[in-house]
Amino acid sequence: MFEPGSIVAVMVAVAVDAPYSYRVPEGMAVMRGSIVVVPLGPRPTLGVVWGAPKDNFAHNRLKDIAHRFDLPPLPEELLKTVDWVARYTLAQPGMVLRGALRSREALDPPRPVIALRRTGHVPERLTAARARVLDMFEGEDRPWARTALVGASGVSPSVVDGLVKAGALEAVELPAPPPVLAPEPDFAPATLSDDQQTGLDAIRAHDKGGVSVALIDGITGSGKTEVFFESVADALRAGKQVGIILPEIALTHTFLDRFEKRFGHRAAEWHSEMTPVQRARVWRGVLLGEVRAVIGARSALFLPFRELGLLVLDEEHDGAFKQADRVNYHGRDMAVVRASLADARVILSSATPSIESRYNADQGRYAHIRLESRFADAALPDVSAIDMREEGPEKGQWIAPRLARAVFDALDRGEQALLFLNRRGYAPLTLCRACGHQYQCPECSTWLVEHRFRGVLMCHHCGHEERAPEACGACGATDSLVAVGPGIERVAEEVAERFPGARAVVLSSDMGTMSQIRERFSEIARGDYDIIIGTQLVAKGHHFEKLSLVGVVDADLGLAHGDPRAAEKTFQILTQVTGRAGRASRSGKALLQTYHPEHAVMRAMIAGDREGFYAHELKVRKDGMLPPFGRLAALIVSGNEHGETMGYARALMAAAPLAAEVRRFGPADAPVAMVRGRHRVRILVQSPKGFDLSGYVRFWLENANPARGNLRVQVDIDPVSFY
Ligand code: ADP
Ligand code: ZN
Repeated sequence: MFEPGSIVAVMVAVAVDAPYSYRVPEGMAVMRGSIVVVPLGPRPTLGVVWGAPKDNFAHNRLKDIAHRFDLPPLPEELLKTVDWVARYTLAQPGMVLRGALRSREALDPPRPVIALRRTGHVPERLTAARARVLDMFEGEDRPWARTALVGASGVSPSVVDGLVKAGALEAVELPAPPPVLAPEPDFAPATLSDDQQTGLDAIRAHDKGGVSVALIDGITGSGKTEVFFESVADALRAGKQVGIILPEIALTHTFLDRFEKRFGHRAAEWHSEMTPVQRARVWRGVLLGEVRAVIGARSALFLPFRELGLLVLDEEHDGAFKQADRVNYHGRDMAVVRASLADARVILSSATPSIESRYNADQGRYAHIRLESRFADAALPDVSAIDMREEGPEKGQWIAPRLARAVFDALDRGEQALLFLNRRGYAPLTLCRACGHQYQCPECSTWLVEHRFRGVLMCHHCGHEERAPEACGACGATDSLVAVGPGIERVAEEVAERFPGARAVVLSSDMGTMSQIRERFSEIARGDYDIIIGTQLVAKGHHFEKLSLVGVVDADLGLAHGDPRAAEKTFQILTQVTGRAGRASRSGKALLQTYHPEHAVMRAMIAGDREGFYAHELKVRKDGMLPPFGRLAALIVSGNEHGETMGYARALMAAAPLAAEVRRFGPADAPVAMVRGRHRVRILVQSPKGFDLSGYVRFWLENANPARGNLRVQVDIDPVSFY
């Protein structure tokens, strides 16, 4: 506790590297974690008391803390997590803290609910309507919320207002209701299968106090969710709070429903599509302990849980857990850090775990829960390859004859087929037949993608859009534009031509709002469509009873990148999407169109040999000293001019501290060499596993000439994307 007159360090939630000193004014007491407003330059700024200042001398220009919010201090673990994330990712701690104070509205008490109470005074003019309202209070003297009173008595609002004016009713304030009701751990538990029970027992046994991490590793439909729900129940029974983190907002809705069926009440929701008021209620509820369970996106890891018992990361392998702007943290690592600081449990769940988590489980650091069979013995799909070199489609088509026949068969049986292609739009490249001009983004070194449904060419990096031209912009030829390669819209066009009677639907993340997309999903589940053409949006988390065939239009997409995780990511997405086939009692079939049927990923897919894939991939990583056997960091230097950018990157490279364990590569133009008009040059750094790569890069940047003017250096520790 810091008394008036003492000097404290306050971390302000803006781009600063360290806390600043302030004085505690008369009539105020603060402690570490207190949320305050302090003057910063001319502006009052939100901050958090970080403790005693490092250099504890009073200087005379010291300013007073302006305000302290009437809230419990932020939990110690959260403050330590902020420090950890800042140190590890080289982000400014003030910016990391900003992520934890995302709801300014939450800091003031919520507006009370205005309710009406009878005064006992009977108005002179007592109409029938007025009498009906007053009757509502007979027998019980509790106040009514105004709208509830209007609704229950069936009168117009003016009648109620008239009674207030006449002095028969008076307004009282009721405290705002909690954002959600407490989930009940024993509401509707599932009877676990033997495998599931063994898994749950192993999770419990691994927990010896302190942090414990478990990986639930089991094919889609094997009952992973039911297992971690029981662990959620354990935490709730122990009086702890729970966070369930999902990689995509689109999945939260189904999950909330499922949670409610199991626990009787909905969990609180946390993601970017909520209104500020909704978010404020949840944030405050978590800090006050009213909210016991949250289902949300990555940013929920920064919520002020004060009694954290369990964090679940569903689909833990998903790249979306890595945040890629400002603060480059990985949600999976951060969950483990936060849980360690709180002595809580972490459950990672996936049908295709990340190589990192599999390795930790193999090493015994994580409990390894395997669920081998699908619940209720539904069969896994039968996966085979279509070798595009030998039995590829006709010219101008993208669906090979064998895949087309399989679609017809599914249609004949009244079943659904999914054609999967992880590429939005009509075509990835547009060129002019007459002059060869290729349409490129004016701001990025990327091709513009034609979106024919909307009549535009679009850049998938920066969002730049232009109308699809009628004449070539370079030579003026008309009707000369040629689409090269397929996107889902083009596959949809082919489907309409080749399967004219079938009802088809196209689904990708840019096809409407969240609720429109949800609507499409329920239509598909209802059987309103025969053929679904979709991107990875349809690969995740949805069960369609009638879906028995999955055709992957381009299984090789994603293998070609200079990304050390390309094989892993391809294996994960192919496993996920083929797993959509035959979830119910019928067994499904999946066909992969590929030019590389001999590739390790395709071989593992066809043989259904996931263990083989993991063994192979772990060996590749070990030989290349790649994660999890080594560590990587990327330094992206960007600037307005190529020469200057490259020049600075070279100077930076020359200033690298010597360390025998570290290998440095570059600088070289990044694979996407320009984004939003800025040139990008990359340096890659590689080290052995135990090496403090964050510390090394920090020392390097602190001792090199700083980037000036328009130049910038972005650091990405443990990069996940390599564009
Ligand atoms: P996963 O999370 O591994 O994909 P789920 O937990 O969603 O698998 O389980 C697949 C299906 O089987 C779901 O419909 C689920 O309700 C059902 N299920 C799983 N375990 C049980 C159980 N023990 N009792 C009844 N139904 C179960
Ligand atoms: Zn662009």
